[in-house]
Amino acid sequence: MLPHKETIFALSSGAVPAGLAVMRISGADVPAVLAALIGSLPPPRQATLRSIRTRNGLVIDTGLVLLFPAPHSFTGENVAELHLHGGRAVVDALHRELAAFPNLRPAAPGEFSRRAFENGKLDLIEVEGLADLIAAETEMQRRLAVEQSSGGLSSIYYGWSERLTRARALIEAELDFPDEEDVPGSVSDQVWADVSRLTEELASHLEQLEAGEIIRDGFKVVIAGKPNAGKSSLMNALARRDIAIVTEIAGTTRDVLQVDLSMDGYLVKLYDTAGLRDTDEIVEREGIRRAEKIITEADLLIFIEDLSIDSVTEEPPEGAVLVGTKSDLPSRSVRQYDLVISTKDGVGLEALRGLIVQRLKAKVQPQSMAIPSRARHREALSRSLAALQASLLSPGRGLDLRAEDLRVAGDALGRVTGRVDVENLLDVIFGEFCIGK
Ligand code: GDP
Repeated sequence: MLPHKETIFALSSGAVPAGLAVMRISGADVPAVLAALIGSLPPPRQATLRSIRTRNGLVIDTGLVLLFPAPHSFTGENVAELHLHGGRAVVDALHRELAAFPNLRPAAPGEFSRRAFENGKLDLIEVEGLADLIAAETEMQRRLAVEQSSGGLSSIYYGWSERLTRARALIEAELDFPDEEDVPGSVSDQVWADVSRLTEELASHLEQLEAGEIIRDGFKVVIAGKPNAGKSSLMNALARRDIAIVTEIAGTTRDVLQVDLSMDGYLVKLYDTAGLRDTDEIVEREGIRRAEKIITEADLLIFIEDLSIDSVTEEPPEGAVLVGTKSDLPSRSVRQYDLVISTKDGVGLEALRGLIVQRLKAKVQPQSMAIPSRARHREALSRSLAALQASLLSPGRGLDLRAEDLRVAGDALGRVTGRVDVENLLDVIFGEFCIGK
């Protein structure tokens, strides 16, 4: 492991002022810097109470100091953590002191994680899981991120990679001793039986991606219907606060409004849309265009209709939940609704919440949380699957070509975990992080 030229530091805890502030330092110079700040080095990995001083001997603060000598640290380099009181002036003073050391500089966003990746402490899946864990707002996002950041998902891919490597090695052997190819029950049969099992496992793993995406990015629920049907009132009622403007004037909502809700531990992204009608008004027309777009992307469409007016409306799109609104008013509709609600007196709202959760859970039934959840995973896993399928498609094609398919499948898998050629992806992935991680 080549030591990095510069040693980096950053506040790894949240915004000051706070009870505590944790300054993290990583790099070859850590022991020297620490010795300068606190006198002698503390024993490795033991929280030690020390005064932290400027080079002029003035006390900046007193707090816990931890030293993690390389390679047994988050980044794989020498790492120190200084736990100070979380006051702005305290943190600023330490910052100034650190920046004055030669070869020390503030860390860029995600730079600690990037060094951890470069030193083989984390793979890309774990790095992404860590970013997700930090960003997690719901219980299910947290569970997904924990599984990913702690290597549960990676271990599946490493297991598959090993099986592919073994298969290729056996095929190589077979190519070197072609006479044995026709022997019944030969090595080749075992290889292809396992490749076929692997293909099935990968295919069913990929089927879980939708569930992973819903957990990570949210379940999209779109409220649509005619102007004045009560869409904005429903959005506000479900969010339990005023997000959308409610008026009796048709066409008030002109853009797509969105609010994040947590339901049963899942992230639900609720959208209120412009009322669907023919109009020449240019802004409203753009609103309707956006509404139509988000409707096509919905995981669940709630199509609402004012049951107090007896206008004939068109059929809701397939799969939509048809909800009659304003049930506090006399009904003049002959329609069969899936549910009737009133935002005025709250009738049906709990049932509607229950229905949203039920529809969500019907799509997200993960057996485990070791499932893919990003477009990046989809691309690489799909490429791997396609190559595996190609290797099985025409057995008469020649062992060397089929072995090449397995190599392509293995490379694609390697890209998921970052073992193979991912240089171009790194800036995108580490850019997601905040400073100090
Ligand atoms: P949108 O245009 O579909 O977003 O509809 P709004 O939510 O702005 O509501 C249109 C009008 O219907 C407003 O005057 C609301 O006060 C009224 N409204 C909405 N929901 C209900 C309801 O459940 N009962 C009654 N009586 N009026 C409602």
